[in-house]
Amino acid sequence: MIKSVQVPSLERPLIGFDPKPRGSHTIPMPHDLPKAYDPTAIEDHWAEYWVREKLFAQPASAADDPHQAEQFSILLPPPNVTGRLHMGHMLNQTEMDILTRWRRMSGRRALWLPGTDHAGIATQMMVERQLTEEGKTREQLGREAFEARVWEWKRHYGGAILDQMKRLGASVDWSREYFTMDENLSVAVREAFVRLYEQGLIYRGAYIVNWCPRCQTAISDLEVVYDEHKGHLWEIRYPVVGPDGGIIPDEFITIATTRPETMLGDVAVAIHPEDERYLHLHGKKLRLPLVGREIPIILDEWVSRDFGTGAVKVTPAHDPNDFALGERHHLPSINIMDTTGHINEHGGAYTGLDRYVARKRIVGDLEEQGLLVGVKDHTNNVGHCDRCKTVVEPRLSTQWFIKIQPLADKAIDAVKTGAIRFTPEMYKKTYLNWMENIHDWCISRQLWWGHRIPAWHCGMCHKITVARVDAVACAHCGSAEITQETDVLDTWFSSGLLPVSVFGWPNITGDNRADFDTFYPTSLLVTGFDILFFWVARMIMLGCWFSTDVPMPDGSPRPLAESVPFKEVYIHALVRDANREKMSKTKGNVIDPIEIVKKYGTDAVRFTLASMASPGTDIAFNVARTEGYRAFANKIWNAARFIFMNVDRAEAAGVRMDRSWFTTPPQLSNESRLEELWIASRLNRTTHYVNLALEKYRFDDAANFIYQFFWGDFCDWYLEIVKIRLNFSDSADNSTAASSLAMLLFIFQTSLRLLSPFMPFLTEEIWHALYGGKPPRESIALTSYPQYEQHDWFSQLKFDSSEIAMNHLQLAMERLQNAITSLRARRKELGVDEKLFVNAKIASGKSGILRKNLEILQNIDIIQKLAKINDLEIVFFSDRDPGGKYGHLDWQTFGAVDVFVEFENRVDPAAERDRLTKDIAKYEKGIAAAERQLGNEGFLAKAPAHVVEGLKKQESETRQLLEKALAALDALPRE
Ligand SMILES: [Zn+2]
Ligand SMILES: [Zn+2]
Repeated sequence: MIKSVQVPSLERPLIGFDPKPRGSHTIPMPHDLPKAYDPTAIEDHWAEYWVREKLFAQPASAADDPHQAEQFSILLPPPNVTGRLHMGHMLNQTEMDILTRWRRMSGRRALWLPGTDHAGIATQMMVERQLTEEGKTREQLGREAFEARVWEWKRHYGGAILDQMKRLGASVDWSREYFTMDENLSVAVREAFVRLYEQGLIYRGAYIVNWCPRCQTAISDLEVVYDEHKGHLWEIRYPVVGPDGGIIPDEFITIATTRPETMLGDVAVAIHPEDERYLHLHGKKLRLPLVGREIPIILDEWVSRDFGTGAVKVTPAHDPNDFALGERHHLPSINIMDTTGHINEHGGAYTGLDRYVARKRIVGDLEEQGLLVGVKDHTNNVGHCDRCKTVVEPRLSTQWFIKIQPLADKAIDAVKTGAIRFTPEMYKKTYLNWMENIHDWCISRQLWWGHRIPAWHCGMCHKITVARVDAVACAHCGSAEITQETDVLDTWFSSGLLPVSVFGWPNITGDNRADFDTFYPTSLLVTGFDILFFWVARMIMLGCWFSTDVPMPDGSPRPLAESVPFKEVYIHALVRDANREKMSKTKGNVIDPIEIVKKYGTDAVRFTLASMASPGTDIAFNVARTEGYRAFANKIWNAARFIFMNVDRAEAAGVRMDRSWFTTPPQLSNESRLEELWIASRLNRTTHYVNLALEKYRFDDAANFIYQFFWGDFCDWYLEIVKIRLNFSDSADNSTAASSLAMLLFIFQTSLRLLSPFMPFLTEEIWHALYGGKPPRESIALTSYPQYEQHDWFSQLKFDSSEIAMNHLQLAMERLQNAITSLRARRKELGVDEKLFVNAKIASGKSGILRKNLEILQNIDIIQKLAKINDLEIVFFSDRDPGGKYGHLDWQTFGAVDVFVEFENRVDPAAERDRLTKDIAKYEKGIAAAERQLGNEGFLAKAPAHVVEGLKKQESETRQLLEKALAALDALPRE
């Protein structure tokens, strides 16, 4: 009977791998790293280096380049020039940077294009605020001087957010940085406007717009935020006019309104034609209280009989529904408010009053005249200006519009045909739903900062001249008495053009031609839900519309699939606080990414965001996780230091190292060591999963796979095992140590590349140090991304496929790991000092010990080292009770193995009794529960067969453990 087994020789060389130095590219010294990982120092250094060396500049491919790589292009959603980086930017940019770095390393011609938006309202407000502090107004300055002032502001403060991006290492092409008011982009804006005008798609008209009395401009529906507001509903009597023109006593129509001041602009009262209450009033007129105007009663089916009194006052100039009613019934519009929210000259006695002062006065006057029937509390949604929070006023004004068809239909087709795909997919529905109900787009804004509309009004013939070059005379009558339109274009008009304008449109010639051919359509847009309509939809409309005119590189007409501004849209989630609350200044729970970066380093913050980012899932940002990833970075840092120390030791022992060790995968064979085969298979599998996860925007999966691999597999196991191999000496044969070092260097270097898109700074620093400051490329970001080796790596092994080989290796390693963790656990139970080496035995596998647990037999040295064991004896399961000086109570079961740790005088019978008693209680409880379930006929009738089988098996296993524990308790010496 075999009691113990001969341990295979440790000196077995790796077959098929030649550790002897090759070539003359030895690794230069030194490759040391500072002792402590200090993210701030290394990040500042590399951030500056990447920008200075223009590492991520991406020129267009020359048409005759034979190695035309597939492109990957992505536009940075341009932050407002007034902006400061917040957590949303940080997430958005982290995702874009990971994808761009990954695609670049995977061989794509990657271009990430940055820029800022001139942000009409926001920037104008910023400068106006400065002027207020100086006691000035923009009107005092005049338009030209004000614009100059804004440009000056931009020069001083405008680059802040991009500077933050630079510091955070965004791998964008800074040579292409744009500003939406740049000359070339302004040319595109003007061309787009003129072209749409010529195509009859831009018109000027009166329209009810959302007017901000503070910003003094029209704002889009999307820029209005609605808040619930506790207000009142005033019920007012409008007297009926008799045939003699006087008032009929006691004949009224009562209307209800939340904005009584607007009655100054009333032009009618509408009722439903079939409303029986008012049939006798058809054709009659009313006397508008306070104003005295006679207004008609009109009949319209739009009026709801069930709401309020069933009678509606009609104020076309101050309500969008009333405006539509007015159009239908050819009613006049009376605008009673000026641009600042004060009652204008049409307001009679109320002229000059602020809208809320006027409201109060009007209500008082109505009450006095006995026309106020009632006041009710009423909660309604009140629109506020998104910028300045002032209550917006629906107001009639003359604006410029884009006729949305046929642009919208084309943009709908682009998504319906799959030329543009959305992730998460649900946004496709949201987008289509919105596009199918879209109204004409009001593109004019009454601001001074922005692209001024290229239209001139003629003082003679009053016609409009729209021109690409500033007009000097009216195109209709030739008069020189013309003035330029004072309105500017909505900011989204210029940013909607970016995908075409940044690549040179409308001048698609020369370099622009190559750029456009190479990078349009862009590959991907990563953005937040909040600008899906503001920006994404507008880019699709304008991109599809204007790029159609640009022929394909071969001169053929551009199909819709190539006209789209981007092929994919990834809508990222929200970053919330640790309690899943939305961050808001009011709640005071806003996390400043710059502060967190200062504390933990960019890499740790990036990794935190990545590890939680997946399509459609909001992120609950928790600093505790960032702390954890800071520790992860530190772990890698220390691993690097350990490896470098061994490189130095190897050199000192005369081992000549070769750079190819870093990049050439060592050949594997059936004779290779388990830890090497295993780590290679783990790396290969991780590589596979990470690449797949990134294809699906599963940043979380990708980050977590890398984390598990680097920390769990590489640092916790492989590095610990490799330590045994790396015993270089001057005298002995160093081939085993050298081959192990070569494998270690290859695995480490590959892992760094795998991690690089997620932690670009840390990996850059270590990678440069690995090459002693003389790396083969300027940056690890320019090396190749690890790819899954489906056949090559494991082709020498005895398995049918790489997949089977990797599964086998994983199981084998798990058995070895189980033996080690079992011994460690038993040591802990016995209270063995952590540094103390003890003797131990392992029993396992009953009779199949040799075949099943070969990895244990072949790696006794690993077990000894990692579990701190002097003499390790491997025995058959049936022999585990040798009847030596310790009884079988000292054997403990851990999964598939029983272990015995020899630790004299340390077994405390009382503690053992305590432990065993607890175990017995636990087992008995488990058995009772299983019996209850197995005795329940209702359960047995419903439960699937495999569940019942599993339960029975579990019960019988627990019984065995119980018997063992009882026997052990019995064998304990009596007190
Ligand atoms: Zn405003
Ligand atoms: Zn004219």
